[in-house]
Amino acid sequence: MSVALGHGAAVRVEGCGKTFLDGTRALEPATLDIARGETLVLLGPSGCGKTTMLRIIAGLELPDVGGKVLFDGKDMTSVPIEKRNVGMVFQSYALFPNMSVAENIGYGLKIRGVSKNERASRVAELVALTNITGLEHRRIHQLSGGQRQRVALARAVAIRPGILLLDEPLTALDAALRDRLRGELNRLLRALGITAIYVTHDQSEAMELGDRIVVMRKGAIVQIGNPREIYFAPDSRFVAEFIGAANIIEAPLENGHLVLPGGRQPIGGDTSLPLAVAMIRPETIAIVAAASAPLCGTIDSVSFVGDRQRMVVSGASDKLLTVDAPNTVQATAGERVGLSIAPQAVRLLPPEN
Ligand code: ATP
Repeated sequence: MSVALGHGAAVRVEGCGKTFLDGTRALEPATLDIARGETLVLLGPSGCGKTTMLRIIAGLELPDVGGKVLFDGKDMTSVPIEKRNVGMVFQSYALFPNMSVAENIGYGLKIRGVSKNERASRVAELVALTNITGLEHRRIHQLSGGQRQRVALARAVAIRPGILLLDEPLTALDAALRDRLRGELNRLLRALGITAIYVTHDQSEAMELGDRIVVMRKGAIVQIGNPREIYFAPDSRFVAEFIGAANIIEAPLENGHLVLPGGRQPIGGDTSLPLAVAMIRPETIAIVAAASAPLCGTIDSVSFVGDRQRMVVSGASDKLLTVDAPNTVQATAGERVGLSIAPQAVRLLPPEN
């Protein structure tokens, strides 16, 4: 892939909050640094302020007084969107229906005065890069959803933006297509070396695409980290439960063990607390023989889901435990089993505030 886009720009969001005219506090003042070429994902439930943050970076929204947006150290806060050199892709494709695919992709180049020849070669490169060869002369209404989103992407990167902003670009597509395009998008972003900021409420999308993930809640950033950090070391119950399945256990601590109805579970980390709120991911719990296990329970149900089995175990903890076991494990409902959990798989969380 030889589309030379130069390097992406570094982005700094400094103390940017947003209160809308009707008094809605969409964003608490937030500071965020995004490295050149990084893909940063803004993740959180509906209404948490992701789009507002993205629109402030784009220049579609002004931050509250005191907030600043810098690209490569240069203050862009009052620079309008058309002078920021950003590309944008939305959930709705926002393509021009009266233009062909090629004309859509080349539109930004045309209004920037790029010559016809240069435009044609750039469009050809992008058509190949986004896998839409053969569709150049079609109208937008003759394309599928996935093809439209590829055109939108090609159009956004055609102007060689330093920063690409994507707001739920795959949400409107069906699940299988979303999976495939997600992989393609990932490769494209890496190949272009562009700085990308990607908004989603889908945690698996965030995991696959993000170099780092910013988890947001109610207008505030609650955790920033790479996908592994966010998944294995959530700072709060909210993050633990928002990212994947999580067993949250509240239990007294004694000599480095959680004292549970079904036995004693050793933990890593700070063991000096009298009471713990702990998170255990379902796939870190292994089903073993009950006889010698320090923690036991009874299998309530087993659901075979192909690549694994999801089991619900009662009696081990104060709540039902969810266990994801390999699909080869033989276990049936009603059976008494041991549960083996490595101490470091037990993540202590701060008590709810
Ligand atoms: P979603 O995933 O549903 O798109 P989001 O995390 O992107 O949500 P935002 O669109 O940033 O959330 O909205 C944050 C909050 O600000 C919401 O409560 C929303 O209703 C509110 N909001 C957004 N735009 C405006 C506006 N122009 N005027 C008033 N309130 C607004």
